[in-house]
Amino acid sequence: MRSKIVAGNWKMNKNAEETEALLSELAAKLPDTNAEVMVAPTFVNLAGAVRSLESSVVKVIAQNMHFAENGAYTGEISADMLLNIGVDTVILGHSERRAYFNETDEILAKKVAAALDKNMRVMFCFGEELEDRKSENHFNVVESQLKNALFSLDASSWSKIILAYEPVWAIGTGETASPEQAQEMHAFIRKTITEAYDTSVANDVSILYGGSVKPANAKEIFGKPDVDGGLIGGASLKADDFVAIIEAI
Ligand code: 13P
Repeated sequence: MRSKIVAGNWKMNKNAEETEALLSELAAKLPDTNAEVMVAPTFVNLAGAVRSLESSVVKVIAQNMHFAENGAYTGEISADMLLNIGVDTVILGHSERRAYFNETDEILAKKVAAALDKNMRVMFCFGEELEDRKSENHFNVVESQLKNALFSLDASSWSKIILAYEPVWAIGTGETASPEQAQEMHAFIRKTITEAYDTSVANDVSILYGGSVKPANAKEIFGKPDVDGGLIGGASLKADDFVAIIEAI
């Protein structure tokens, strides 16, 4: 059975004090929910966030990691470093990492393998750009992103995978995929996984939607049968908005 998940990707926002303030407001206002709630503050504030949320059900997750075990990779963070501070889930493949930091499917496959090797959970992001959708190539793009980074995994590894479909044209633009567009793509993703594995792998994986989710549109998007929650950027930076989105699931 797949779980419902609402995750906040804070990207490069919030200093230490602001992180503390947002987390305590969130912990105080957190509604009762069956969904898993996760937040991804920036690296320097991860350990503090884990400590602040010790007695909360909100999980702290990382925005990225390197695939190497350790060594001469200036500026990078390993899986062991995350696990050591109590972070066992990592976002990989975000479109901003792909676009601004040249993360290819090949690099992402290595990162996914490294995280799974350490028994971490991976929230794998993917999604087409506007030109892909305009040229009706969006299904092919998504299929190849999944195939290149994930389809050589064993079926058993999929219990550690969370998928986040984030159409690039909907990220931070205020333009959201319609609930129908989200459902259509999520159903396609499940079909593709069924073909590569089987229905049980496809039905058990949580597929989140990301891209301009806000309190006003969350309920309709989350109401679609193949949408298991959301990966929220901008709206996760305000406790009231994030709480309203959690309430929508
Ligand atoms: P926005 O919600 O700001 O569009 O960002 C989505 C996102 O990129 C989450 O990872």
